[in-house]
Amino acid sequence: MDKMRILIVEDEIKIARFIQLELEHEGYLVLLEHDGRAALDKMLSESYDLIILDIMLPSLNGIEVLRRFRQVFETPVIMLTARDEIMDKVMGLDSGADDYMIKPFAIEELLARIRRAFKHKNTSKDNTNMLQSGALQLNLLKHTVVYATEAINLTKTEFDLLKYLMQNLDITLTRDTILEKVWGYEYGGDTNVVDVYIRYLRSKIDEKYDTKFIHTVRGVGYQFRNEK
Ligand code: CA
Repeated sequence: MDKMRILIVEDEIKIARFIQLELEHEGYLVLLEHDGRAALDKMLSESYDLIILDIMLPSLNGIEVLRRFRQVFETPVIMLTARDEIMDKVMGLDSGADDYMIKPFAIEELLARIRRAFKHKNTSKDNTNMLQSGALQLNLLKHTVVYATEAINLTKTEFDLLKYLMQNLDITLTRDTILEKVWGYEYGGDTNVVDVYIRYLRSKIDEKYDTKFIHTVRGVGYQFRNEK
């Protein structure tokens, strides 16, 4: 069996390293991230079995990271909080945390909660590799897209673009941002290619199934929405 992958998001390097060593000792594969925004990027583009998420983080706090992550993924999340962050704790659970730990904590307690989160996960439906909006489903591992029960054939670029749009539900994305995130820097800033590929996706999804997911935000860019 593959090792369980755990992401620790904690900007206090000593604490992060300590938890990492303890978890590795238990046989987990452990990755570290110290910055909120960088963590969210990782969480949306890679697959983890569990995430340990501190609340106070640079660039984007843990509650906001979790709120955005929960729009697309159901991966178990254990929040870390300082003793005096009671409000944060409550907000953390409201925004979809599965559990929380008050720092400082005994490592045995964290290990017990991780085991409990995994048990819980194994008995519930595993959606961690799926992005879903209405009848549209994108499978990150299999690289497939279906609408209801019908498979949609996408090229690699179309798939990457759709994935990026779905991961940013309800967020307006500029052409520059899309170009950078989907194509990388080597395209040298010609955003026409974004419009071309948006057109391809619309013809394969929005026009074909009579639903409108991809919206043009005039003068800005595009937004993926799931409207009833
Ligand atoms: Ca912190």
